[in-house]
Amino acid sequence: METHNFSIEFFPPKTPEGADKLRVTRRKLAELHPKYFSVTFGAGGSTQQGTLDTVLDIMADGQLAAPHLSCIGATRTSIRALLQQFQAHGIRRLVALRGDLPSGYGGAGELRYANELVEFIRLETGDWFHIEVAAYPEMHPQARSPQDDLLNFERKVKAGANAAITQYFYNADAYFQFVENAQKLGVEVPIVAGIMPITNYTQLMRFSEMCGAEIPRWVRLKLASFGDDSASIKAFGLDVVTGLCERLLAGGAPGLHFYSMNQAAATTAIWERLVAK
Ligand code: FAD
Repeated sequence: METHNFSIEFFPPKTPEGADKLRVTRRKLAELHPKYFSVTFGAGGSTQQGTLDTVLDIMADGQLAAPHLSCIGATRTSIRALLQQFQAHGIRRLVALRGDLPSGYGGAGELRYANELVEFIRLETGDWFHIEVAAYPEMHPQARSPQDDLLNFERKVKAGANAAITQYFYNADAYFQFVENAQKLGVEVPIVAGIMPITNYTQLMRFSEMCGAEIPRWVRLKLASFGDDSASIKAFGLDVVTGLCERLLAGGAPGLHFYSMNQAAATTAIWERLVAK
């Protein structure tokens, strides 16, 4: 089993207790030997310090870490300062995003889209960073059309992204189509599949509503039928998501990026099943 492009995402903990808990989670996940861990960034800079602290904590254990960085609501000056801080700490990888501002937050800022952020990072720091951008096999919810979204994705790659990570999805065909269409446009960077383990029905429905990921009807109905039976939800979720990962890897996906939700168990269970194959 090729683990070359296997990565795991965390969000920055809000409390010292949360940071201790994440350290334990991360050390368990480190046993799976992911290529790197990434740490999300609250749009508008709300987690700026937390993101950096978490990244530095990971690096202190000798592992590779990539902060996410979002541009919405930010200024060029503030992003420049952050990039310099990342460089000073020896950080070489970034996940560059537009982000979503909480409602009522104010204007979009100086860089309106992720392609402008990527362009700015390259202008400021050359090839220092390996830059990952987001891709949406089931279309970003604000895009005018799938084709428009694909062209916007291509724009980000042309601006200098090295690779992409997709939003999570449960329809493998949407991913394969997207990759094929991107390749037809001449996009050659690896498009790593974003994987959301299924452990909690209510949470999954809420997230998927927000980010535009479709839960196939048969999966949704089956999950709903388990009610409060968390063990059955997790067992079924493990089967569905492992099956998805197998299909993706067999079909040529260059890697998997796990949205761990700061939990070790689900990602570990999927990974161990994949490796056992
Ligand atoms: P963009 O690529 O800028 O696209 C946003 C929308 O604008 C799309 O509909 C696109 O089609 C359209 N568009 C793009 N460029 C143009 C253009 N030049 N002109 C007109 N329209 C355009 N959010 C966070 O806040 N913090 C995180 O840490 C975070 N991490 C993420 C990690 C991954 C792997 C993914 C997939 C998403 C993540 N998100 C995160 C969510 C992300 O910020 C949202 O999905 C956001 O709405 C879009 O970000 P983007 O970088 O894809 O935006």
